[in-house]
This record gives sequence, C-alpha cells and structure tokens, in this order.
Amino acid sequence: MSELKFDIEKQTGLMRAGVIHTPHGDIKTPAFIGAATRAAVKAITHAQMRELGSQGILANTYHLILTPGPDLIEQGGGLAEFTGWHGPTFTDSGGFQMLSLTDAKIDHDGVTFRSHIDGAKIRMNPEISMQAQWKIGSDIHMAFDQAIDSTDKELVRAAMIRTHNWLPRNRAEYQRLSEEARKAGKPQQYLYAVVQGGLFEDLRRESAELMATQPVDGYGIGSLYTTETEETANIIKLTNEIIPNNKPRHLLGMGSEPRDLFVGAKYGCDTFDCVAPTRQARNGALYTPYGRINIRNAKYRDMFAPIDPECDCYCCKNYNAAYLHHLYKVDEITGKTLASIHNERFVVRICDCIRESILNDTFDEYMSDFMSKYYNH
Ligand SMILES: [Zn+2]
Repeated sequence: MSELKFDIEKQTGLMRAGVIHTPHGDIKTPAFIGAATRAAVKAITHAQMRELGSQGILANTYHLILTPGPDLIEQGGGLAEFTGWHGPTFTDSGGFQMLSLTDAKIDHDGVTFRSHIDGAKIRMNPEISMQAQWKIGSDIHMAFDQAIDSTDKELVRAAMIRTHNWLPRNRAEYQRLSEEARKAGKPQQYLYAVVQGGLFEDLRRESAELMATQPVDGYGIGSLYTTETEETANIIKLTNEIIPNNKPRHLLGMGSEPRDLFVGAKYGCDTFDCVAPTRQARNGALYTPYGRINIRNAKYRDMFAPIDPECDCYCCKNYNAAYLHHLYKVDEITGKTLASIHNERFVVRICDCIRESILNDTFDEYMSDFMSKYYNH
C-alpha cells in the first residue's frame, strides 16, 4: 500500500503551507475544496471552477450511491473522468447523512436510511462505504463515521465509540480493495480517518489519540460547525496537536464563514469544504471584503460597479451589481451562476492568500486585516 505524499513547505506553530500529491494532481494547501455533493458544484461548470482556481472537489458518497450508483461511475472511469473534472477528488463517507436524514436508523454495525428519491432502504456500514468510495474512485476517501450535532455528552460519546469501532473495519476493507487495485495496475486511492467527539475536550482528545495510532493517509475532523465561539477553535487546536503533523488534515463541511478558514488554517488544517458559498449565492447572499450583502436589496438596483471591486472573478470583472440585482429580481438562472462563481472564488482566494501569508510570515496581519474589515464594517 503506497502512502499519500504530503510535503510541508513551511510551518509556523500548528499552521502550515504544503502540497498534497494526489493521483489526479497536486493540491497546494491550505485549499478550499469545492462541495460537489451530487458530483457537480451547483450552478458552476468544471471549466469555471478551474478558472476560479479550485484545486479539488468533494462528492457525497450517500448521494452517489442513490444515483447514478458507484458501478456506473466506475464504468465511466471514476469520479474525475466521469464528471470531466480530471483533477483531485475527495468523497465523504456517507456518515453525515446520519445527522441530516431524520429517519436514519443507527446500530452497532452501520445505518439504514430511506432513499429520499424512491423510499428504498439503503444500508451503509464501513465495508459498503469503502466499496462505494473505491468504485466512485475519489483520490481521498473518508472512513465511515457517525457525524453528530449534539450537546448531550452520552450521545456524542456513543457516536465517537461507533466511529472508533468502525475504523478497523474501514481499514481492513480499504486494504483489501487497495491490494486488488494494485494487482490490477489501477491508480491508488487514499484513506483518511475521521476524528469525532463533538465539543467535548476529553472526548476529542480520546478520539484524536486513538486515530493518531492508525496507519492512515490523513485525517478528517468531523462534527464541527462554526468557529463563532472559542470552543470550536480550541477543539481544532487540541485535535491537531495530537494527530500526526506529517499527514494532511481536512476540516469536514466547515467554511460557511470566512472566519472558519482562518481559524482552521491557524490551528493546522490543510483543506476545507462547505456547501455554503454556492448555497448562499443561490439565495443572493454574496461575500465582499466588507461582509456579506444581499444582492436583492434595492440599493443595488442602480449600482453600476462590481459587487466586489477587489475581486478578480469572472463575475466581478465583467458584470456590475445592478445587472446581477436585475437577474435575481427576474429569477434568471445566469444570476445564480455568476453569484456562485463569485462566492466560490472568494473562499478559494482566502485560502490562497492564507497560503501566501504563511509562506511570507504575514498570516497574523492578513487575518486581523481581513477580520476587522469583514466583521466590523
Ligand atoms: Zn467576484
């Protein structure tokens, strides 16, 4: 089993700039990975994603099991080829759906869902998740875990223990599939273990300590949702102080606020993904250096300037706020595409600038400038 190559170019404290070398190309970190839940970043083509600087996409295993199915994606050459993206790809484990689907029935072996498409029963467990991710063919897989959003310590502990019990099964199945691929001369795919434990320091520490002993290629940090409070920042910090420094770390599903990217990078996370930039764009909420705006607001009706004059995206270089406002008023689909390109570029660029600032030893100034403009304007 070959190891995922990860080079750290510069490290200051926990924070680092590096390069993850995947079979489908390099990812310069810190990096924002586009959320492509159903194998597409909503409203943005792959050509537009490449143009705005995206280095990777993350698809959702549960959704792809429902349709078109891992077998079909495998026939199509795997996620990167099937979708025409051709670059680095990640998949989550499907464990997040235990949280987002209310009818999920969780047991010691795995979970049963009802398909939201046709009501069919869908079973997932570590082996099924690993087999599906292998067929989907993402470069980086997440071990099947139980995501949770609760302040009830016993529930969080139970989810963490399940995640821990499932890891050896994830690894055994991953190794079997990896060996099969090696014999068949197919490209390698890589496995991240996911640290759980909610917002409880002792549970996170226990989870990180156990995960640190496992021979995996990297780590996902799961079940964190906002860095608005210091609590989450502390959890990220203590987790990354424990898990091995020489492996890449992905902060799962976090990045709905620019603050999350700064805090995550500061405390040692390398990649991020979140559906929020494109979801908020579709709702007309656009990021600017001076905070989030709503393009539907009447004040943009006759503003013949880009929504963000500092932005270098296709939307801001070619269109003014008044035109975008008009597109939202008449519900033209082009408006959603332009806004999604802008928001996605905004978060990709923050990560690129964080990377530059780490390399140049200017992270603290960059973070404090950005935060004071964005949150105090
Ligand atoms: Zn822009």
